[in-house]
Amino acid sequence: MNAPEPGNDAAATDLFDDARSRLEDIFRRLDVEEDVRERLLRPATALQVSVPVRMDDGRLRVFDGWRVHYNTILGPAKGGIRFHPQVNRTEVTTLAFWMTVKCAVVGLPFGGGKGGVQVDPKTLSPLELERLSRGYMRAIADVVGPDRDIPAPDVNTNETVMGWMADEYDAIVRAQVPAAITGKPVELGGSRGRVAATGRGALQVLDLWAEREGREPAELTVAVQGFGNAGYHFARLARERGYRIVAVSDSQGAIYNADGLEPGAVWEHKTRERELRGMVYCEESVLCEEDVEQLSPETLLALDVDVLALAALEDQVHADNAGDVRADVVLEIANGPVTSEGDRVLDGRGITVLPDVLVNAGGVIVSWLEWIQNRTGDYWDEETVNARLAERLGREAEAVLDLAAREGVSARTGAYLHGIGRLAAAITRRGNRQEA
Ligand code: GLU
Repeated sequence: MNAPEPGNDAAATDLFDDARSRLEDIFRRLDVEEDVRERLLRPATALQVSVPVRMDDGRLRVFDGWRVHYNTILGPAKGGIRFHPQVNRTEVTTLAFWMTVKCAVVGLPFGGGKGGVQVDPKTLSPLELERLSRGYMRAIADVVGPDRDIPAPDVNTNETVMGWMADEYDAIVRAQVPAAITGKPVELGGSRGRVAATGRGALQVLDLWAEREGREPAELTVAVQGFGNAGYHFARLARERGYRIVAVSDSQGAIYNADGLEPGAVWEHKTRERELRGMVYCEESVLCEEDVEQLSPETLLALDVDVLALAALEDQVHADNAGDVRADVVLEIANGPVTSEGDRVLDGRGITVLPDVLVNAGGVIVSWLEWIQNRTGDYWDEETVNARLAERLGREAEAVLDLAAREGVSARTGAYLHGIGRLAAAITRRGNRQEA
């Protein structure tokens, strides 16, 4: 009997259909040619792998994984690797689609890719995790390379995991190729500023929105769904800018304090166990913070705050709960946290959505800066990296918001018009080689 296809359920198929359904309106507005439509509605290649891992107790476990190149018109595929029990081919494809749009929106010389392994990494020992990371890189190494596909961190992967994968890649190709993977530890050629880059970029886009609306950070309250790397650094930097972070959540629950939380202290509590045990993952939750009110994660979405920052997973605000959101602005730090139906409900209620393909692009922008540093061998200090991030993101975010205002469309539609316009022009300019 054939093994069932791993975890490719109906909900996942809906995710991709929902994501690409947004293109129809964009194609119409841009009046793109049929060829362009056909190219952008499907992935270029999708590699499925199985990764055998020897567990500490001597048993063999085999994990399913994928690496998708959605589109490589603007450059080599670029995008993270996710370790999560919900990962499946369709989710990875959808995430690779969003990477394609994102790299085009901020004008990077990259296409879009994504990878993932269906695993709950929190159940693995550090050595098992290292074996899985190396095994996954061995399985996908043929499609990776500085001019082909450059992986990076995503949900539940970090600089430690990238370091193992970079080492494995170098061993396979018998050369030092730091530009084949980004988000590495600084000691292995990683860029200064990469770890905080997604949160830093998200704050920059929020600041720009606040400035255009004539609102002061000190007057704005923020709830943050998701307290992983991006959510934490965003909350920390936003607190420094004067925003009041009143609630944060993680997969276990949410905490609230009307007077404002200290993200640094919450993070310290959450990660304390990890430091003691030397593990890669947090054993603790934000719930271990003392003297705060506990909320259900759903209540956080419905809090009466000015800014709702979504930094967890996709598909969080949808037709059924978008009516409960009370924030003035939704900041998409995760990829795809609002469905297209969720968008329509929020839009109808006058709530602005600052879209993922712009808001979380700080991560891939600094990955690009890392790739440049690796290729030139010229390494920069953190100030230089942050300044170049701010310059690139500021320029593109202004262009997106100006375009949206000029056309009278949402910020998401503005971002897609901006990015898909670039992709469409490049597809057309490449000519008809395949038909010739
Ligand atoms: N995983 C991140 C994202 O979704 C970063 C990708 C990268 O740096 O290549 O944007």
